[in-house]
Amino acid sequence: MALTGIQILKMLPKTNCGECGIPTCLAFGMKVAAGQAEIEKCPYVSEEAKATIGEASAPPIRTVKFGGKDAELVIGGETCQFRHEKRFEHGTAIGVVVATGMSDAEVDGRIERFNSLRYERVGVLLKADIIAVRDATGDAGAFTALVQKVLQSAADAKLILITGNVAAMKEGVTACGSRTPLLYGATADNADDMATCAKESGSPLVAIGFILDEAVAVTEKLIAAGLKDLVIDTGARTLRESLEDNIVARRAAVTQKYKPLGFPTIVLPCDMTDDPLLEAMIASVNIAKYAGIVLLSDLQGETLFPLLLEQLNLYTDPQRPMVVEEDVYPVNGPTDEAPVVITCNFSLTYFIVSGEIEGSKVPTWLLIKDTEGLSVLTAWAAGKFGADLIAQFIRKSGIEDKVKHRDLIIPGYLASIKGELEEELPDWKITIGPREAGHLPSFLKEWKPAA
Ligand code: SF4
Repeated sequence: MALTGIQILKMLPKTNCGECGIPTCLAFGMKVAAGQAEIEKCPYVSEEAKATIGEASAPPIRTVKFGGKDAELVIGGETCQFRHEKRFEHGTAIGVVVATGMSDAEVDGRIERFNSLRYERVGVLLKADIIAVRDATGDAGAFTALVQKVLQSAADAKLILITGNVAAMKEGVTACGSRTPLLYGATADNADDMATCAKESGSPLVAIGFILDEAVAVTEKLIAAGLKDLVIDTGARTLRESLEDNIVARRAAVTQKYKPLGFPTIVLPCDMTDDPLLEAMIASVNIAKYAGIVLLSDLQGETLFPLLLEQLNLYTDPQRPMVVEEDVYPVNGPTDEAPVVITCNFSLTYFIVSGEIEGSKVPTWLLIKDTEGLSVLTAWAAGKFGADLIAQFIRKSGIEDKVKHRDLIIPGYLASIKGELEEELPDWKITIGPREAGHLPSFLKEWKPAA
């Protein structure tokens, strides 16, 4: 059962040293209870307390990681059934299958599309994350060779190894080296051997059933064998079954804390139809309803892009504004005579303003001040975009070394702080820019540095 902040506080050293990054043990305990901090952040808590608190505060759907330490893919970690209750944590990972027995051209095409179909939206790189290598011919040598080919040709692909042959699985895992794969998987028949393989390699393992109940029996067996990092394939091979199984599993894990179903699920639309559009539709339904991973038979821009956007929309925390990093951004190759424009770090503002500047073709330095994702006026009203903070940012940003002039263009909505800002930055002339980003191009084209 979940512990309260006070119960967690009783197990903390109560020295208020602040080394966890939070000023007091009470505040830290509250954050751990709310799932906003990890107990490991306190270096002084006992191992026994760590185990007790970690177990009690673990999310009902376990967080599973694979792909290697440098570029881990994280799935699961979910704590609620509906997004409005809190938020969804880790977006459904999308993967493509390559199999032994496929022609080289087919495999190369899928890998090439995996590498090239990438899209940037509001500063987020949208792409497929997984290549699943399937042993379709029972030839262990061909399977390992295909694993090696994927490792060499797709540098950032996370791998799923699909084989029921334990010896082939071991060879595949060895070939992966530090790029820890997800092993697919353990059935009722080979669970013991696959569990040993997963334990020895430190890889997460998929528990496979023909129906949900059988998947539960396999996860129970694997948990009893000491495995913690599991993914579930409920055996569903129709849209309706996969949707129902995912809902049942999430509800049982979240509302009844039913451990055998407390793992992310993997869904295989690639095995449910030969129609690419129907496959995309099945994937879309399962992204909306709880799949941790969906595997597609191929990647095509017209179906992948909408799936990635759906994933982005569902898994973006609606309570946290999207932000870009505080920095100095060169737009259109600015020199030391280029205008300097400042605005807030709300993603939407950044992309609209930078888009207008880019379109104007005027080389410009765009300064983005951290306003915790608030828009210009809201940030100013909340005291996060005042003259004193802007002045501090200008001094530490390094912009004074990048331009010869001292002319700062502020958003038109901040006209009222012009005088205050000139007092804070006596070397600078403050110019009031337009209120709307759409008026920036003509403004910048006419801009001349102050004499
Ligand atoms: Fe308390 Fe530990 Fe945080 Fe120090 S590091 S304030 S002891 S919780």
